[in-house]
Amino acid sequence: MTITSDTPTSIDSDLLVDGVQLIGGDWVASSSGQTIDVINPANRTLLAQVPRGNAEDVEAAVQAAEKAFPAWRDLNATARGRLLFRWADLIEENAAALDEIERQEVGRPSWGPLGSPGQLRFIAGQTDKVQGVSLPTYSPDTLGFTLREPFGVVGGIIPWNAPGPMFVTEVGAAIAAGNTIVMKPAEDAPLTPLALAKLALQAGIPAGVINVVTGYGHEAGAAIPAHPRIRRMGFTGSPQTGALVMAACAKNLMPLHLELGGKSPQVVLDDAALDAAVPSMVSGITLNTGQICAAGSRVIVHRSIHAELVDRLAAQMQTVTVGPWHQPVNMGPLINEKQHQRVLSYIELGKEAGAEIVTGGVVPVGEAYGNGFFVQPTLFDKVDPGMRIAQEEIFGPVLSVIVVDDEQEAIEVANSTEYGLVASVWTQDVGRAVRMSRALQAGQVAVNNALGAGVIGGPFGGYKNSGFGRTMGADSVLDWTQIKTVSMRGAASQA
Ligand code: NAD
Repeated sequence: MTITSDTPTSIDSDLLVDGVQLIGGDWVASSSGQTIDVINPANRTLLAQVPRGNAEDVEAAVQAAEKAFPAWRDLNATARGRLLFRWADLIEENAAALDEIERQEVGRPSWGPLGSPGQLRFIAGQTDKVQGVSLPTYSPDTLGFTLREPFGVVGGIIPWNAPGPMFVTEVGAAIAAGNTIVMKPAEDAPLTPLALAKLALQAGIPAGVINVVTGYGHEAGAAIPAHPRIRRMGFTGSPQTGALVMAACAKNLMPLHLELGGKSPQVVLDDAALDAAVPSMVSGITLNTGQICAAGSRVIVHRSIHAELVDRLAAQMQTVTVGPWHQPVNMGPLINEKQHQRVLSYIELGKEAGAEIVTGGVVPVGEAYGNGFFVQPTLFDKVDPGMRIAQEEIFGPVLSVIVVDDEQEAIEVANSTEYGLVASVWTQDVGRAVRMSRALQAGQVAVNNALGAGVIGGPFGGYKNSGFGRTMGADSVLDWTQIKTVSMRGAASQA
């Protein structure tokens, strides 16, 4: 194994949690005593071990969350908000350490200051805005109004690709609404969530409000939606697992939201300003090595500018430096061996189907790459909208270019997958921008902007098989509440 001198092999931080999970404010091993190794995918070095939690651990976490619930629910909304703001402050103060933990477990270059404190502050500001409405009544001596109340103990399951932001937005919204939560982070990247939970305790969020059970999906994960006393679920991950979680929730008649995959189109019309579009499109597929649900994996381009765009995309992609930790690095490895094989097999599928590789398509070789799970950013041209590389989520840095002849065809191709998470459109014509924004079937549309960029407090979620419900934004907090209608009169009033 080759480890280059600037590739870290351990995490040196007080925020690193090793060997334990969080249940009821206590850091504990799993009931089985077993652990799971967490490695840095850039060099396969062991970073820490986490408990291999199971149904027994989930039961303990539910009991802790039940115990914490009444006091958390009854804490006044301002006080609850203040604790969330304090948590956001601590996340900001510890941004460098959190970034280090996350980049080592995910294997990505530094993203600089994290966006999570801003998202969390937006959510913290919602605690005292969870409001009902007053209602007309049949009789003047009756008052009618609604209350929005928490569900009680709720559950959350998140993936490994952006463990920090996902933990903060899911947990933040659920507890802002007054719920207490049992969270299961991904087995590949549980260290950032555990560090964030540690900071939540330091911020004064009471023991048992946030519980983190680590472990595998089919064990600790499956036990959460199957638990009869968990009242609502949030799941972010693959559509296949989402369907399993939804089926388990159905058995318990439990509501949920699902944040699933994407095959996001980046539509480039013939009047697009390519100087701005090209770098944005390339970072839209190379950020986090393409392992982002919102990755812009399809370029849909007007025939008249197709040749120029492909040349410019290829040139831009070739400026992306791939590597373990050398500076400046734009793109790290894929998360694990399975994901590496999956991305490489999609590249083969694309070639077999007749698409043409313009750049990339290979595993970089050289001492610097050691045994990390690297792949070069890959640009496919001559892609037919029906090909599997144009329909299925690859979750890697693979960009497919599809040619269209007009705006209508661009819309049809953009909407032709089962997904509908994010879409972007590049045009200088306001009328076209308006039409496209309405016509694209996606939960988020960016016009002349990076996918998902620039909005604070925007609800995030999918259309079609990309899921339902929203994380982030004010709606995410309301989603974690249930509505009670109250009709009320004085005891002496006539019936
Ligand atoms: P995954 O579905 O394999 O795993 C996600 C989580 O589910 C992990 O914590 C895993 O342990 C758990 N899990 C696995 N099997 C389970 C089961 N049977 N019961 C309960 N939990 C189980 O997904 P992944 O490969 O880790 O993540 C990649 C996927 O996540 C991609 O499809 C990506 O698009 C999606 N994603 C979506 C969003 C979004 O907001 N829409 C964000 C990030 C990632």
